[in-house]
Amino acid sequence: MKEYCGVVGIYGNKNAAQLAYLALYALQHRGEESAGIVSFDKKKIYQHKGMGLVGDIFTPESLKKLKGPLAIGHVRYSTTGSSIAKNVQPLLINHKKGFIAVAHNGNLTNSVDLRNELEDTGSILQTTMDSELILHYLVKDHQNNYSGKILPIASRLEGAYSFVLMINDAIYALRDPHGFRPLCIGKMDGGYIVASETCALDMVQATYVRDVEPGEVVIIDKGGLHSMKQPEAKRKAFCIFEYIYFARPDSNIFTQSVYLTRKNLGRALAREHPADADLVMPIPDSGTYAALGYAEESKIPLEMAFVRNHYIGRTFIQPSQLIRDFKVKVKLNPVRDALKGKKIAIIEDSIVRGTTSKGRVRALRQAGAKEIHMRVSCPPLVSPCFYGIDFPTKKELIASDHSIEEIREFIGVDSLKYLSLEGMLGSMMLPKEEFCTACFTGDYPTKICKPPSKKALEKRSCPGPKKGPDPF
Ligand code: SF4
Repeated sequence: MKEYCGVVGIYGNKNAAQLAYLALYALQHRGEESAGIVSFDKKKIYQHKGMGLVGDIFTPESLKKLKGPLAIGHVRYSTTGSSIAKNVQPLLINHKKGFIAVAHNGNLTNSVDLRNELEDTGSILQTTMDSELILHYLVKDHQNNYSGKILPIASRLEGAYSFVLMINDAIYALRDPHGFRPLCIGKMDGGYIVASETCALDMVQATYVRDVEPGEVVIIDKGGLHSMKQPEAKRKAFCIFEYIYFARPDSNIFTQSVYLTRKNLGRALAREHPADADLVMPIPDSGTYAALGYAEESKIPLEMAFVRNHYIGRTFIQPSQLIRDFKVKVKLNPVRDALKGKKIAIIEDSIVRGTTSKGRVRALRQAGAKEIHMRVSCPPLVSPCFYGIDFPTKKELIASDHSIEEIREFIGVDSLKYLSLEGMLGSMMLPKEEFCTACFTGDYPTKICKPPSKKALEKRSCPGPKKGPDPF
């Protein structure tokens, strides 16, 4: 399972591109396939994009060329459209009223319909990403100014989106009415920042102001910060998986601390499923904070007996079975002397296919662990995500067609317990009705007519456009 995207926008600082670069560094965990920055100095537009990690794409020279007090940036893991150079964001277009650059996090669930509709009316799209659609709608209407047409366009988009746009000399930040993906606003010396997570604000020493509200469009221009709102959705649907796995633990998302929430999950897990163990240990990194909570609540000592190799990343190639077989140990090496003869409670954040957990358990057995009790800080994952997380298909999710006992046997642990849905929701610091839990329940907060696939816009065989109100 992969993260999806991170977005940032900077307004009103002469080093906007450099600050965007720092913010993207902080958001790297949200997308490791490609990154880019577009900046504007009120005369000219500049851009630099590429495949790979932020640190590899940008050099001091390339950053120096990104001039101006406005910039937006993006890190990407593809959730719609392949990981290819033409799909790297921010996307940028020039037209007679100036330029528009867009950075998107999320997944539009009606992207095939919208694309068909645009093509039927003469648009020629350049990428296979849903993120491009908003650009075409923005240039289609010649009557209104941008702030006048953004709300009607947003109301045509279904699914999950946190957009940051740079339109001429203003930054726009939009969030879908359910608020699936996070987006926050910070203030800093001479201007504003909008970003996916507050860790990006910390990086540039900005002060958190507030979140972009679900359904809100925030415009930042020379007049300051302006706000418009779409009609409220029937319910909010913050992605609960952001707290369990995706977001950085030092971020606050949806206004609450990821770190503290993960500890709460661990505490609830210890209350629901105690283990007869000598030590508690996490699967680093995302299991670490739940393990802290589990250890505190159970009064069992915490050991960091899996040591992570911080140098493994995209560069680790796996061309042969021999190298693949060693992959688990390259990433995480168990500390033999801490584990030998011990009964251990190991804390996983989640189990997707089960194959990764199986490999880790094998490594722990080889290191001499006597008993292994796995505790998982969320319920079984049974349904795919259509809102911007690249989950495997339902068939590939081990819990979709295996009992917990069958999964236990497959992974090779002595006991396996998952946190209950109630336990997970009770660990949140917001009302439980405000979360999307569809990957655990199959209960999707929006209508999903036809599950969109990652490459839906590359191999369309879809019927005609969905009839909907004309936004113009
Ligand atoms: S389905 Fe799961 S991963 Fe997707 S938005 Fe909902 S909670 Fe998040």
